[in-house]
Amino acid sequence: MWITFCLHLCCYVDSGEAQNAKEVILLDSKAQQTELEWISYPPNGWEEISGLDENYTPIRTYQVCQVMEPNQNNWLRTNWIEKGNAQRIFVELKFTLRDCNSLPGVVGTCKETFNLYYQETDSEVGRSLRENQYVKIDTIAADESFTQGDLGERKMKLNTEVRIIGPLSRRGFYLAFQDVGACIALVSVKVYYKKCWSIIENLATFPDTVTGSEFSSLVEVEGMCVSDAEEEADNSPKMHCSAEGEWLVPIGKCICKAGFHQKGDACEPCGRGFYKSSSQDLQCSRCPAHSFNDREGSWRCDCEDGYYRALSDPPSVACTRPPSAPQNLVYNINQTTVSLEWSPPADTGGRNDVTYRVICRRCSWEPEECVPCGPNVGYSPAQSGLVDTYVTIMDLLAHANYTFEVEAVNGVSDLSRTQRLFAAVSIATGQAAPSQVSEVIKEKVQQRSIQLSWQEPQQPNGVITEYEIKYYEKDQKDRIYSTVRSKSTSATVNNLKPSTAYVFQIRAFTEAGYGTYGPRLEITTKEEATAAIVSSEQNPVIIIAVVAVAGTIILVFMVFGFIIGRRYALAVKFPGTKTYIDPETYEDPNRAVHQFAKELDASCIKIERVIGAGEFGEVCSGRLKLPGKRDVSVAIKTLKVGYTEKQRRDFLCEASIMGQFDHPNVVHLEGVVTRGINTEMKALTVKPMLMRLNNSNRDHWSIFRKPVMIVIEYMENGSLDAFLRKHDGQFTVIQLVGMLRGIAAGMRYLSDMGYVHRDLAARNILVNSNLVCKVSDFGLSRVIDDDPEAVYTTTGGKIPVRWTAPEAIQYRKFTSASDVWSYGIVMWEVMSYGERPYWDMSNQDVIKAIEEGYRLPAPMDCPPGLHQLMLDCWQKDRAERPKFDQIVGILDKMIRNPNTLKTPVGTFLVLYSAEGTPELNFTAFCSVGEWLEAIKMERYRDNFTAAGYSSLESVARMSIEDVMSLGITLVGHQKKIMSSIQTMRAQMLHLHGTGVQV
Ligand code: AMP
Repeated sequence: MWITFCLHLCCYVDSGEAQNAKEVILLDSKAQQTELEWISYPPNGWEEISGLDENYTPIRTYQVCQVMEPNQNNWLRTNWIEKGNAQRIFVELKFTLRDCNSLPGVVGTCKETFNLYYQETDSEVGRSLRENQYVKIDTIAADESFTQGDLGERKMKLNTEVRIIGPLSRRGFYLAFQDVGACIALVSVKVYYKKCWSIIENLATFPDTVTGSEFSSLVEVEGMCVSDAEEEADNSPKMHCSAEGEWLVPIGKCICKAGFHQKGDACEPCGRGFYKSSSQDLQCSRCPAHSFNDREGSWRCDCEDGYYRALSDPPSVACTRPPSAPQNLVYNINQTTVSLEWSPPADTGGRNDVTYRVICRRCSWEPEECVPCGPNVGYSPAQSGLVDTYVTIMDLLAHANYTFEVEAVNGVSDLSRTQRLFAAVSIATGQAAPSQVSEVIKEKVQQRSIQLSWQEPQQPNGVITEYEIKYYEKDQKDRIYSTVRSKSTSATVNNLKPSTAYVFQIRAFTEAGYGTYGPRLEITTKEEATAAIVSSEQNPVIIIAVVAVAGTIILVFMVFGFIIGRRYALAVKFPGTKTYIDPETYEDPNRAVHQFAKELDASCIKIERVIGAGEFGEVCSGRLKLPGKRDVSVAIKTLKVGYTEKQRRDFLCEASIMGQFDHPNVVHLEGVVTRGINTEMKALTVKPMLMRLNNSNRDHWSIFRKPVMIVIEYMENGSLDAFLRKHDGQFTVIQLVGMLRGIAAGMRYLSDMGYVHRDLAARNILVNSNLVCKVSDFGLSRVIDDDPEAVYTTTGGKIPVRWTAPEAIQYRKFTSASDVWSYGIVMWEVMSYGERPYWDMSNQDVIKAIEEGYRLPAPMDCPPGLHQLMLDCWQKDRAERPKFDQIVGILDKMIRNPNTLKTPVGTFLVLYSAEGTPELNFTAFCSVGEWLEAIKMERYRDNFTAAGYSSLESVARMSIEDVMSLGITLVGHQKKIMSSIQTMRAQMLHLHGTGVQV
């Protein structure tokens, strides 16, 4: 039975909620006024009817009311609903439901619920309806059903139920309503999902965002800064979209960029005359004093003309200008020291970083001609960066005119192009004491007296009226000084003890007073010669006798010397004080040869083979058999055919020199052949020998004409440099030191005789079969003609640069002290087994490096004591170098205590300055930063980086101007950095040869 009841919905109660802004509607049955055309099955179940809502708007509804029939199963399915981005779908149902109790005769069949289903599909599936494909969402019951009475009041209770489905995965779905025997009117079906709508929060825009699939899920969304805004550092803007479509939990923010400020949800440019220097600032500020801008959106203001901003000034501070000149400059002179004092400038330029700098100029008496004072002048506390208003300037020249300018500077002085403002004074210095007496030479050392001479000090600062020589016994406990005065630059100190070391110092005296003492000079008096003299101290009779005998001997020698001197132009040799005589001083060089060399009979000489080439001819080996003596091996130097008279003289000169020497470490001359060969000998000896030699070389027949030969002891192992290279690494340190000791002993002998070698080098040392080293290569022209190492220098003459002391290179000052320098190089050659000194550096680079104070590093495995001795030999001041006598003593001590020769580890790369102090090894640094740290100048790291000095190689090329251009204004720092750069440069030269351009 059909029960029809009014479902004219003209007047039911509906709260009529306004549509929620967070919802996106997928289906709203009320919004459609035409037929819905949902599928209803069976056909007599749900039926679509038209009605009016509470506003009398026509709506389409479905209703069913088969309450009387049992077993109802009426299905109603919506059209396909495309879900879009949604994951969580809301289904809102509005319906009315009839109370079964209010219906008569329906007991057992009437129901008060219906079921809600859905089916997910990717597209529409047609109009058939299969129950088993649907998923049940819920059984829907009415909160409020209505009765006939209600109807009577024309009011029906409208139920609203909302169900949520999801997460959904297909593109769309259907909803289905199953009625099992209720009386329902489905007034509206609304399907929607929720979304967080785009908003601007904290100057960031967040886009429309669909909520997550779960009730509790929050979707995190990144915000985008609005224009002219930027993300706050490490705080990017984020928000979270809740399942309810609400934005929650804002994190981070955007802020307006420099030059912009916030207005509402946007950034606006700062107005003219305003600036905002950083995004961190909230507001635009008015331009600070002496600055302006005439455009919008500025991050800073420009300085007015004549005003500046220092690099370190923030944009918020006023622009400033250089200070005015210091005021009230006053001075005080004390001899060669000037003190200046002043008051601060009237105008500090608006800054509080005012310091002062002093510029010193020395002027000729014409005021226009002034030159900078240079580095010899001292400033206390400093020349620039002065915080206090005074400075003392020292070490000025006496009696000189100076101008001092005192300038006040502040942080913007260097930016200003306006004229410098300074206070100035012109001053004439007064008298000063003389500078040091440093060049002292020992002229004559006796048992009880020492004669000294010296050079006038470099700055006498007046007329020197007297010198004072102070001396004391070196080993005396309580140092008692004695003094001697001299009006000239030499003096003899008497009454000294024999064999005693004394220390001497000299100072000069002028009207202005005494100068400072020069460096200490240590000299040991000679040993007492004979026992007679020792005992003579007790016996006056013996003294008289000894003096009388000695006097007679001296007299005899003087007379004899006088006669010979007239003939040979030079001095006499006294027994015990043998002195070398320069053969050049002989009028007739032939006489010199025969004075010092034995004429040999050529028949005693047997030439065996050619062993080398000398400057004047071949060098052969052979044997010498003198009558009544054993035959000995000899080297025979020959003079080549066609010689000139000068060549003959020069050739024999070596013999004249060598013949004067008699020492186990100096090559021994057997004699010379100058007078030709007798006929017998020709047949017996020379001819067969020559046939053996080289038949094609007809020159050898010159021997038959007027042969000239020098016969020398034979040195089996030839020259030392080649010998060491051949036996690289094969000797013990003791053996090497033994060789060095021999060479030093030979040189001590030569220097004691007053002979200066000038070409001491390993190539000029010969080695015999017992490893005994002997000094060789004598002769006056040999340095110039014979030595392939010798090159012409600017001072004229050829010099073997690598072996020669700087003073000999610079002004040809060849002395035993310059031989000591060369000896140091020989030590280095020996300890490095014949390595070339200064490797492949050019001669010019060697001279420069030496001048800059750098010395060869210790060869590999060289004991430090030996390297120290080398460094001592390479003292710039030749008076400071050890004497050969001392060198022999030191080496003897080392040989006696082999422990002192223990090899250190890794000395090769440790570099020593001329003073022997180890210095920073630049190979140990990887970066400019590390280097600056090591010299405690790391504060300038940024200055170096900003100027592009990124490698130590680039730093090594810097000049003082480059250093100053980095903005390093403190003179002390400039000097410290520059001196380290010079060291670095020299080390690089040592390590890489000519790798750095200097
Ligand atoms: P000199 O002209 O003195 O430089 O001699 C040329 C070369 O001859 C030297 O380099 C040595 O190899 C060799 N020589 C010179 N003198 C001797 C010697 N006394 N014993 C052995 N070889 C010598």
